[in-house]
Amino acid sequence: MERLTPPLAPKAPGRWQIGTVTEILTETPTVKSFRIALPLWTAHLPGQHYDVRLTAPDGYQAQRSYSIASSPLDEGAIELTIDRLDDGEVSPYFHDVVEIGDRVEVRGPFAAYFVWSGESPTLLVGGGSGVVPLMSMLRHRRRTAPDAVMKLVYSVRDAGDVIFARELAQGDETLLTYTRVAPPGWSGHTGRVDAALIAAAGVEPSHGGAFVCGSNGFVETAGRLLLQQGFDPARVRTERYGPTG
Ligand SMILES: Cc1cc2nc3c(=O)[nH]c(=O)nc-3n(C[C@H](O)[C@H](O)[C@H](O)COP(=O)(O)OP(=O)(O)OC[C@H]3O[C@@H](n4cnc5c(N)ncnc54)[C@H](O)[C@@H]3O)c2cc1C
Repeated sequence: MERLTPPLAPKAPGRWQIGTVTEILTETPTVKSFRIALPLWTAHLPGQHYDVRLTAPDGYQAQRSYSIASSPLDEGAIELTIDRLDDGEVSPYFHDVVEIGDRVEVRGPFAAYFVWSGESPTLLVGGGSGVVPLMSMLRHRRRTAPDAVMKLVYSVRDAGDVIFARELAQGDETLLTYTRVAPPGWSGHTGRVDAALIAAAGVEPSHGGAFVCGSNGFVETAGRLLLQQGFDPARVRTERYGPTG
């Protein structure tokens, strides 16, 4: 496996700071991206996340982690991409309450393990909003190392569920699979990620590394599949978002 020059050195200020929401993009019916300008911005490594903290007037606080979707080349700001869980505490607040110009409390970037530092070839495997940190890796690779081999296997329920759809369609890195309803005329993969789809990505297991992100169940299944395919356990990195998915 070839290791390219790491694009950035890890730096983690880890201090709470107040960011300002400068842009809100609707990605899918349940997912929005929030661009947040940060006074203490520091370049992150693709794959890292920020913590977000909400404080109610009575002092009650809720804190959650959100992966950075943007490339570290976007100086001064980060993009967080948040899936709205109907019965959630923090994600509905972002979707229903937060507006451009609002101030939000964040700290980061965090994580030293689930980070891409230029390795190639790399297989990314994402389920649902698990594609977010993988998108940071893909965006950064497109801008800094377009010749580095990187493929994305992305599992979604249906066509309306594809986050970053337009941007992903601009390259040839992505293999989608639809687990519930495929769009009319779709001749690609359907159903859950399986050995055939992993093989179709064309990343040779004995040479490549992999990043897997999604719900607990998704990561469990996809991670096991990669090991069965011959990926080295030391080169399969995983990030789990939550209980079910
Ligand atoms: C390192 C890390 C990075 C993350 N990055 C992202 C990201 O980029 N985008 C994103 O949308 N989320 C991300 N998450 C998940 C996020 O931190 C929250 O868990 C999620 O937004 C739910 O928070 P909530 O307050 O809305 O719901 P909660 O009030 O925490 O939970 C509401 C209900 O949903 C269930 N639940 C909680 N989390 C999930 C989940 N992930 N999937 C399904 N059910 C769940 C709970 O069990 C509960 O029943 C990340 C998590 C981690 C650990």
